[in-house]
Amino acid sequence: MIVIGGGLAGLSAGVALAEAGWRVRLFEQRPFLGGRATSYVLPDGEHVDNCQHVTLGCCTNLEDFYRRVGSAGKIKFFDRLLFQDPRGRTGEMQAGLLPAPFHMTGSFAAFAPLTLADKRSIARAMLDILRAKGRTADLGTPVAISMLEWLKRRKQTPGAIERFWRVVLVSALDEELDRTDARFGVDVFWKAFLSNRTGYRMGVPAVPLAELYDGCKAEIEKRGGEVNLRMPVRAIQLENGAVKGVEFDGGRVETADAYVFALPHQAMAELASEDIRQHEPGLARLEQIGVSPITGVHFWFDREVMREPFVTLLDTTTQWIFNKTALYGSSNNGSGKEQGQYLQLVISASYDLLQKPRQEIIDLCLKEVHQALPGAREAKLLKATVIKEAAATFSPQPGVDSLRPKQETAIGGMFLAGDWTDTGWPATMEGAVRSGYLAAEAVLRKAGIAKKFLQPDLPPDGFSSWL
Ligand SMILES: Cc1cc2nc3c(=O)[nH]c(=O)nc-3n(C[C@H](O)[C@H](O)[C@H](O)COP(=O)(O)OP(=O)(O)OC[C@H]3O[C@@H](n4cnc5c(N)ncnc54)[C@H](O)[C@@H]3O)c2cc1C
Repeated sequence: MIVIGGGLAGLSAGVALAEAGWRVRLFEQRPFLGGRATSYVLPDGEHVDNCQHVTLGCCTNLEDFYRRVGSAGKIKFFDRLLFQDPRGRTGEMQAGLLPAPFHMTGSFAAFAPLTLADKRSIARAMLDILRAKGRTADLGTPVAISMLEWLKRRKQTPGAIERFWRVVLVSALDEELDRTDARFGVDVFWKAFLSNRTGYRMGVPAVPLAELYDGCKAEIEKRGGEVNLRMPVRAIQLENGAVKGVEFDGGRVETADAYVFALPHQAMAELASEDIRQHEPGLARLEQIGVSPITGVHFWFDREVMREPFVTLLDTTTQWIFNKTALYGSSNNGSGKEQGQYLQLVISASYDLLQKPRQEIIDLCLKEVHQALPGAREAKLLKATVIKEAAATFSPQPGVDSLRPKQETAIGGMFLAGDWTDTGWPATMEGAVRSGYLAAEAVLRKAGIAKKFLQPDLPPDGFSSWL
């Protein structure tokens, strides 16, 4: 069994198949595992994530994967999400004593950056999602609508759109509301905020991302498999409608009974020859799937400037500030040394920043940090780094689901994995792991073995379970 790609999709497929007793040989082009959710060491010795990654309580498959590879204890979960606007007004999202779907009522009522009219309009839309259990009638039509259109139909106030829906959804889905399929947006609120009390809890890695995958290699090797780094696949050999082998540099060819291609969709499109596209039409449409960017800005200050583990900013370019020094705690890997503090800022759907010079982005974000964190005004910025990921995720554009192929293909021995394959989820770590588990199930199914790896969603609880 060969897996190509050592991101979360390839790793989860590889680990699942190894557990099922298969000898897995994984090939990754880079010198480290984790794909887009990874970390590396900068020339000056600092460990940085390519960007801060977070998970939510409703991401049941990612949680299962971390447990399988011994990393569950490296994720810290938080019950309280803090929001702050430029005037210093704050709001929280935190479950109170009431059962779902009313568990957020207290913190929502006290949310200072929203007016009463904003809150009324949000409550109406939430009720709509609740009644329809996340599947409002206008989501089931053949022509997909954007999230902005869905919100306009529900007469959401400009304040509610800008300071609530946009804030949550641009971060969760990495796309602007007018370019997001409403199905994804509504699903976020149903699964994370309405159906149960714990789906919204935010999990943040307490170690650099690459350390979450330490156990994967061992899991695969324990069953006689191998993990090969710096091994890009250059071509796929096809014979009689089945994969015959994969080619590497220097003319090396590797063969197996089954192949899971767990590459980003752009890389898969490059490998899919005309012959392959004809056999599997799902691979002929990959170029139509768009991408959206995320920018991470890393600041190292000479002193502590922030106490909270993270904060969401409203009405600014900067969307999140993560206090990496506090999050890493005792596992600090050289980041935020001695008394200083290391912060990471995240800007999703950062189209406007792609062409901006690095220094301009640093100046803009530093100004916003000074405004949000008074302690930073006196502090010295020791160094800063900007990491732009132009193709961070696939864009959840309206109708994109029709372009996402299944994990099982019409080509003999070829299986697909990757956040962009048909999982029902947007481009997230959870979506990637789901795809890996689904690909592993498909491989086994083809071999006549019925085995399930996919974990169920969190069940609705409280009054939501009565619906
Ligand atoms: C900046 C940023 C921030 C994000 N934030 C979050 C977040 O907070 N929460 C969240 O859930 N998700 C987040 N995501 C999305 C998440 O990282 C991805 O959805 C997920 O990691 C995708 O995993 P994957 O395995 O499908 O693809 P990838 O991680 O892209 O893995 C594909 C692998 O294939 C390898 N590869 C490519 N071509 C070849 C080849 N020819 N031969 C061999 N190997 C090859 C690549 O090197 C890579 O390792 C973020 C993404 C980015 C970029």
